[in-house]
Amino acid sequence: MTAEPAANPQPSAQPSPGWRNGAAAVAMLTFAVDGVTPVLAAGRRHADNAMAITHQQFDARRGTPRLLDILDEFGIKATFFVPGISAELWPALVTDMVERGHDVAHHSYSHRPATQLTVAEERIEFERGYEALARLGITPNGYRSPMWAATWNSAGLAVEHGLSYDTSLMDDDRPYVIETDHGPLVELPPHWSLDDWEQYAYLPEPHLGYVIEPPEKALALWTAELDGLREFGGLFQLTAHSFLSGRAGRARNLRRMIEIIYDRGDVTFMTGTQLRDAVLVDPTVERRRLEPLAVDPAVYPTW
Ligand SMILES: [Zn+2]
Repeated sequence: MTAEPAANPQPSAQPSPGWRNGAAAVAMLTFAVDGVTPVLAAGRRHADNAMAITHQQFDARRGTPRLLDILDEFGIKATFFVPGISAELWPALVTDMVERGHDVAHHSYSHRPATQLTVAEERIEFERGYEALARLGITPNGYRSPMWAATWNSAGLAVEHGLSYDTSLMDDDRPYVIETDHGPLVELPPHWSLDDWEQYAYLPEPHLGYVIEPPEKALALWTAELDGLREFGGLFQLTAHSFLSGRAGRARNLRRMIEIIYDRGDVTFMTGTQLRDAVLVDPTVERRRLEPLAVDPAVYPTW
């Protein structure tokens, strides 16, 4: 007996409760397991910088296990975006995420921004990252471009490799479906305002950021966005990094954020894959093609 190819979910005969499953907003907690990759992407010479490398290794040594335990306190399933190099360096950490029921997704191989690569290099990056997860028995459904630096080719590349959702584009705060030449891709739009990097990333060499904001400030920013998205019916997609939010006071802050989401009483938690499934059976979700912007070189002569 031969296996049937997996079919895309079909619209339900029952009235759909919508992609929010009847809730005011959807909360999707995401973690980018970048580890050492942002430091190496800034230059191979930074491998000699023991402070910078160990700053990033906090991710696997302390930060991710701490945050995994906090998620377990609530029984929440989250979405972890893992670069291939992190999967190769920390296979037990990544398989632990799977065993705890989390959604593990693709986050390139080396975390070099695709906008700085050729078309062929972006493809090689994608395939190496995919293969690194495959060696751990993981078939990812989701993709996030490193630094959210997607190209107009990234969506098609993901669908071509069997992936079905992406979290890289910023033109909406509700999910939509991108029609590509290879099939549909559910876009789950992120935003910088819900990223811990802008609040907590301080690393002078290589320069990954110069901010160490109080956790209370991050909590206020994220809570304001949560309540706005509850009013307007959107996706609250929080992006955290364990080498940042895994630090002790910030980890407590993340727990407090989860408590606030629960206390609102009208927000539902979903992983990327769960939200993909809800989007694909919602006939009201917008479907469109990506349209690269045509720019007149006579108006903008500088490359
Ligand atoms: Zn990343």
